Amino acid sequence: MGILKKLLARGIKRSVETPPPGRSVFCSGCFQVVPESSVNVIPWCNDELDKFVTTYRCEACWMEALNDTLMRLAFTEDESLIASAMQFFEAHGVVLLEYRRGDPPAAVRALLLDLLGRLRSGSLTLSIGETTALYG
Ligand SMILES: [Zn+2]
Repeated sequence: MGILKKLLARGIKRSVETPPPGRSVFCSGCFQVVPESSVNVIPWCNDELDKFVTTYRCEACWMEALNDTLMRLAFTEDESLIASAMQFFEAHGVVLLEYRRGDPPAAVRALLLDLLGRLRSGSLTLSIGETTALYG
């Protein structure tokens, strides 16, 4: 067996035995770096952009941020704000037919509040997605 084959075999064996290291995530609320397993992916209103964006929040910060999102959506009639919340969910793979077919914003808002309730209860969780390796 050539040296290349031995190295490749060793590399394959090592990759099977050693799980990849977990990722760490920066919490946008408290600026702490925490394990990905303790991060919640939620929509949060960026006042400068005047729309909902994705935020990563640790266990200590996420409920307050999610409550802020709930309060903003519960009483708004701003169609662009409601649309940005829907765009957040679609970006995370949660598609709402009622939004796509153009149902009235109040109807979409009610369904958004349901989705936020699911995030709050943990029956819906969102992922930060994949990262790609850096080379060089
Ligand atoms: Zn935090």
